[in-house]
Amino acid sequence: MSEKKLKPGTICVQGGWKPKKGESRVLPIIQSTTFKYDTIEQMGDLFDLKAAGYFYTRLQNPTNDSVAAKITELEGGAAGMLTSSGQAASFFAIFNLCSAGDHFVSASTIYGGTYNLFAVTMKKMGIDVTFVDQDADEDEIAKAIQPNTKLLFGETLANPALAVLDIEKFARIAHSNGIPLIIDNTFPTPVNCRPFEWGADIVIHSTTKYMDGHATSVGGCIVDSGNFDWDKYAEKFPGLTTPDDSYHGVVYSSTFGKGAYITKATVQLMRDLGAIQAPQNAFLTNIGLETLDLRVKKHSSNGQAVAEFLSKHDKVEWIVYPGLKDDKYYDLAQKYLPNGSSGVISFGIKGGEEKCKQFINNLEFVAVVTHVADARSSVLHPASTTHRQLNAEQLKEAGVTPELVRLSVGIEDIEDILADIEQALEKI
Ligand SMILES: *Cc1c(COP(=O)(O)O)cnc(C)c1O
Repeated sequence: MSEKKLKPGTICVQGGWKPKKGESRVLPIIQSTTFKYDTIEQMGDLFDLKAAGYFYTRLQNPTNDSVAAKITELEGGAAGMLTSSGQAASFFAIFNLCSAGDHFVSASTIYGGTYNLFAVTMKKMGIDVTFVDQDADEDEIAKAIQPNTKLLFGETLANPALAVLDIEKFARIAHSNGIPLIIDNTFPTPVNCRPFEWGADIVIHSTTKYMDGHATSVGGCIVDSGNFDWDKYAEKFPGLTTPDDSYHGVVYSSTFGKGAYITKATVQLMRDLGAIQAPQNAFLTNIGLETLDLRVKKHSSNGQAVAEFLSKHDKVEWIVYPGLKDDKYYDLAQKYLPNGSSGVISFGIKGGEEKCKQFINNLEFVAVVTHVADARSSVLHPASTTHRQLNAEQLKEAGVTPELVRLSVGIEDIEDILADIEQALEKI
C-alpha cells in the first residue's frame, strides 16, 4: 500500500498519522512538553543527533510531525516541519540559508506581511533583499542576483495581487545561478498546484488559510523537496555543508541527505527561536486538511462562478481573477492552476470608494473580516482597513485603489452567494 502513490484527495484523509494495531484512529493531540527515557545515555544520543526521538516539544512533537508529514506527502516533498505561523515559516525558510551579509531576491508582488518581513525586519538583521518584477524576462530578473545571493522567492498565486508566478522561469533563473527557489504556495495549496513538479526546491505555507480552512488556527509549514544539491554549491551554503559547533560538529548535508535542510531548521532554528506550533492547533489544522481536496475544489468553482458573474455586471468597473479568459494571468493559470484559481477575487465598483463601501455594507452573510480562505464567504475593503495608514500616493503604489473590494468566496451554496452579491449591487 505504502509503495503506491496515492492521489491528493486520499492523502488529505489518510496521510500523516498511520495508527498501528489498537492505536487511536484519529490523530491524537500529544499535549506534553516532554518525553520519557530510561537512561541518561539514551537521552544524550538524542542531544547529539545520534538517535532520532522526541524529547522536548520546542524541537519536535509527534502531533505536529504527523501533520507536517501529511503536507509533505501532499506536496511530494522529502521532509517538512510546522511553524507557529506563515510568517514564521517564511522567516525560517530564508534564515536557514541566509546570515548577516547575505542577500536574496524576491518577487515584489507578495503578501504584505512577507514584504514587510523582507524589506524592513530582515534588513535590520543584515540580510538584504532585492525585489523584482516577476513578469520581467529572465535576463532582467537574473541581473538582481549577486555573488552573496542565496535564494529566489515568489508566491504561486500572489496575495492580494492574484498574479500567477511563472514557476519554471523562476526555477531556471535560480538553478542557473546555483541557488534554490522557495515558493509560498498558500493560496493554491497542493490541491491546485504542486510547485516541486515545476522545479521549485522548497515550499512554504500559511496553513492559516485554506489548509485550516475554518479560521480556527494560525499556523505555518515548510516542505523541502530534497532536490537541491547543497554540496555542489558548498561554499554558498556553509550552514548546511560545514560542521555545526552547537552539535559537536555535525555536517547536515552529509549526515542527513535529503533531510538536511529541514533537520537544520528544526534542531537549530526551532531550538533557538522557538516558533513552534501548539499541538492543539496542529490537530485542528489536520481536521481541516482532511477536507482540503473537497474544499479547495469548491472554493475554486464558486470563485470562478462569482468572477464570471461580476465580470459581466454593469456596476463592476474591473476584476482580477486568473480563471477569467481575458485576465492577464489566464495562460499561466491554465498551466499551473488547472484545477482552479482559488476563491479569492479582487474587483472595483463603479463610482469609487463611496459606492464600494455601500456595496460591502449591503452584503448580508458575506461578512467583513480580516481574513481570506475561510469556509465562510468574506469581504474586505483594503483602502479603509489593512492599508488605512497609507496616503493616496502609497495606496496607488501598493495597487490598492479606493474602489478595490477583495472577496474571499466560501463554500456555501453558489446560488446563495450570488444572490447576496447581486442584492448588494442592486442597492447601490
Ligand atoms: C497569510 C499569509 C501569510 C502569513 O501567514 P500567517 O499565518 O498569517 O502568519 C504568508 N503568505 C501568504 C500568501 C498569506 O496569505
